[in-house]
Amino acid sequence: MNCQQIMKIFEETAYIRTGGSPEELRCAEYLKEKCAELGMQARIEPFAVDMATLQQAELLVDGISVPCKGYLNAGNGDVEAPFYYLPSTDPYSLSLCKGKIVMIDGYLGYWIYQDLLENGAVGFITYDGNVNYVDRDIDQRELRAHVHKGNKIPGVNINAKDAVKLVENGTKTAKILLKQEEYQGYSHNVILDLPGEREDTIVFTAHYDSTSLSQGAYDNMSGSVGLLGIAEYFASHRHSCGLRFIWCGSEERGLLGSKAYCADHEEELKNVVLNINLDMIGCTMGKFISCCTTEEKLTHYISYMGSELGWPISVRQDVYSSDSTPFADKGVPAVSFARIAPPSTGTIHNSYDTMALMSGEQMVKDIDFIVAFAERMANAVKCPVAREMPDNMKEKLDIYLCRKRDKK
Ligand SMILES: [Zn+2]
Repeated sequence: MNCQQIMKIFEETAYIRTGGSPEELRCAEYLKEKCAELGMQARIEPFAVDMATLQQAELLVDGISVPCKGYLNAGNGDVEAPFYYLPSTDPYSLSLCKGKIVMIDGYLGYWIYQDLLENGAVGFITYDGNVNYVDRDIDQRELRAHVHKGNKIPGVNINAKDAVKLVENGTKTAKILLKQEEYQGYSHNVILDLPGEREDTIVFTAHYDSTSLSQGAYDNMSGSVGLLGIAEYFASHRHSCGLRFIWCGSEERGLLGSKAYCADHEEELKNVVLNINLDMIGCTMGKFISCCTTEEKLTHYISYMGSELGWPISVRQDVYSSDSTPFADKGVPAVSFARIAPPSTGTIHNSYDTMALMSGEQMVKDIDFIVAFAERMANAVKCPVAREMPDNMKEKLDIYLCRKRDKK
């Protein structure tokens, strides 16, 4: 694909496509169609996801209404309680949560939610956006299944500007009203196979869903286009390994597509020698990185390759917050590639993630480098990356997947 073809895809997918929505499925069908245009036959594989339709979401503080969005799948609730802003999760601060509606900084992750429950919070408020931006956008959040594990308290998300006001005004009480219908829906993975000369398989992944305010050009139509470009290349070039391309749904909802894939294809994973994941490439500004959830040797190989090809790259051994992680957790060596934009020129998970961030020329170059790496792996007599997870990565996987709490 050339720059023009690539930019046209960004144009044609400039819409919000959250996991499990009709727009996400529209994009899955679009990607399948793109494969067909390139002469390749992809298929769409559904998987079940929790869905909800909000009927009512209100936040009143000291009797005054604050714009908010209710947390999906946080049940139904009508609670009024003292307001408390939790600035830190030390035991003293947490002990003050009892019987209160608690506002926290940052994302509602697994451990902070357990802290809130254990310390008797009756509702929660999160906020996002930026006090310095002109917009008053509010992201649509959800209480994820692996976070609530059946214990739900109602919560809302508000804009950062209002969060500051709640604290400035010395808010005393808050009231949350939440009404919604929860049901099971479906999200979809798009799968394309290019069979090789032997059973060993390399699986390429990139998610194509977006968050609620975002067209997701950079995060992650860019990686999805990258997969199309790589598939197009290998359709007419030798690869002794079999290649499977998976455009994952619902990554933004907690890697649901790659988790579903790994659960539904566990038997086939035995032949997977490597996962190559693309999450955010091709932005105009930014540095190219690789994150290897593999033995450390691969990080050296990739940085040597960068020098060999004259390609600036920063490589580290770590767990990446993307679709590579469910593969790594099944013992498949997984490597992610990304071009990370400086926060002042490109942010994600908001309405600013549009094709304005993207460069067709950079997309072509980024795809070329990933192809160069993949080609070495796909035509190696034996995939050189050890098919086992080192202990330091196992430890990081335990922390990332909330089986163990990070002591830091
Ligand atoms: Zn992403």
